[in-house]
Amino acid sequence: MNVHLVEETPWRHRIDPVDPMRVPGVVFAPHELLPLDPGDKALEQVANVAALPGIVRASYAMPDIHWGYGFPIGGVAATDVVAGGVVSPGGVGFDICCGVRLLASPLDRRGLLPHLPALMDRLDPLIPRGLGRGALWRMGRSQLHEVLRGGARYAVERGHGVARDLERCEDGGAVTEADDRQVGDRALERGAAQVGSLGSANHFLEIQTVDRVYDERCAEAFGLRLGQVCVMIHCGSRGLGHQICTDHVRLMDAVMHRHRITVPDRQLACAPVESAEGRAYLGAMAAAANYARANRQLLADETRHVFEELTGTGLDLVYDVSHNLAKLERRTVDGEERLLCVHRKGATRALPPGHPDLPADLAPVGQPVLVPGTMGTASYVLTGTDGNLAFDSCCHGAGRVWSRHRAQRECDVPRLRTEMTRAGVALRPTSWRSATEEVPQAYKDVDAVVTASTENRLGRPVARLVPLGVLKG
Ligand code: 5GP
Ligand code: MN
Ligand code: MN
Repeated sequence: MNVHLVEETPWRHRIDPVDPMRVPGVVFAPHELLPLDPGDKALEQVANVAALPGIVRASYAMPDIHWGYGFPIGGVAATDVVAGGVVSPGGVGFDICCGVRLLASPLDRRGLLPHLPALMDRLDPLIPRGLGRGALWRMGRSQLHEVLRGGARYAVERGHGVARDLERCEDGGAVTEADDRQVGDRALERGAAQVGSLGSANHFLEIQTVDRVYDERCAEAFGLRLGQVCVMIHCGSRGLGHQICTDHVRLMDAVMHRHRITVPDRQLACAPVESAEGRAYLGAMAAAANYARANRQLLADETRHVFEELTGTGLDLVYDVSHNLAKLERRTVDGEERLLCVHRKGATRALPPGHPDLPADLAPVGQPVLVPGTMGTASYVLTGTDGNLAFDSCCHGAGRVWSRHRAQRECDVPRLRTEMTRAGVALRPTSWRSATEEVPQAYKDVDAVVTASTENRLGRPVARLVPLGVLKG
C-alpha cells in the first residue's frame, strides 16, 4: 500500500485513508522519529492495520514505532466488538503480555554503590535468562494451569510476594478471562520449564537510580524520589506466549475466508471477537497474560530476597504494566458507548487521573507508565493524562532503529565494553556477542520519544532513571 504522510502538527503525522483503509493512520511522532529508512515497512503497517474490519477512529502509532509482525511495534488499534470488529494476534505480538515492573528501594545511590558488586555477583547466577535456560519454578502440568488461571495472584498465594504487590499490578495481577483449554500442548510444554525466567536479548533486570524528577507530587504518590535506587524488570510470557501466538495465527489464517475477511497482509490474520476463533484466542491470550505476570512476580520476589539479604532493605512495587495485550474496554466513540477490543502492541496502557480501574492511592495522579530506554542511557516513568486520543495508550520504550543484524555489524564486543564502562554501567550479559544487538545506538533517543509522547498528550513525565547494573537476557 502506498503511504501518503501529512504533517498535522510538528509532533504528529497523518496517513489519509485510501482503499482498503477504513480509517486514517495517526503517527504520534515528529519527523525525526519516523521510520523512514528505505525498505522499512512500519508506516505501511500502520496503513494496513487501518483496513481491519470494525476498526474505529484510527490506526495509531506511538513515537517509538518500528517494524513488527503484521502490526508495527508501537501500534494501537481498537475494533468495535458488536459491529463485527476483529481481534488479531499480530496486534498483541508474539511475547504476549511482555511488560515492565518497577520496584523502589529505600536506598539512595550513595547507599547502594558499596553493595552493587555483591548484588550483581549474587543476581547474575540466580536470575535465569538467555534462550531457554532454567527457571525459578519447575512445575508439572497441574501447577502450570494454576499459573495460567491465577497469574501473580497465585504466585503471591504461594508465598512469593505480599498482598500489596497485587494492588500495584495492572488487573490486580491476574485476569479472570483466562481459558487454559485454548492453550495447546506444545505451548504448555514450553511454558512449564520457564516460569521465573527473563528470556533473551531485549529482556533485562536493571538496577537504576532516579536522576530527575519532573513532578514531585506524582513521584511521591508512586513512591519515587530523587537519587533513589530502583529495580526495573522487563520480560513476558516466554515460549508459552510465542507458541500461543503461532498456533492461533494459524487457526485464524485458515478460517478468515469463512468469516469473509480479507486483509492486506497475511500477518494480520484475525477473526471477529465474537467468533469461536476470536474467543479462543482471547482466552489463551489471557492465560499467557497471567503467566507473564506470575513470571515477573517471581523474578521480583527473588530480587527482593537478594536485596534483603545483602543490603538489609526491601523493595516496594511501584507498578507492573504490560505493553503487549488486547483488552475489551467500554469507551465512548462519537458520543456512543461501545465495547472495543483495544490492541496495544509495544504500547502501554496509560490511565488518566480519576479512572475507576486505578487503586485509590493512584487515582489522584494517574497510572504509572513504565518506559525503558536502553541499558546505557535512561528510562522513564510517566503518568497517564486526560485528553489522550489513542484510547489511553502511551509509548513503551525508545523503539529500535537498527535491526539486530545491523547492530551486530555496527558494534563489536570491545566497543560495547568500552561504552558501558564509560557510561558507568555494570553489564552482565548472557553473551557479550548478542548484547551488541542492544547497544544504545540501536534504539531511538528515549528523551525525544518521551518529549513526543508529552507533546501529543499521551502521558506526562514524572521521573527519569539511569542504569547502574544490568542483567541482560
Ligand atoms: P520491547 O518490548 O519492544 O522488546 O522493548 C521495549 C523497550 O525496552 C525497547 O524499545 C528499548 O527502548 C528498551 N530496552 C531494551 N533493552 C533495554 C535495557 O537493557 N535497559 C533498558 N533500560 N531498556 C531497554
Ligand atoms: Mn518481550
Ligand atoms: Mn517488551
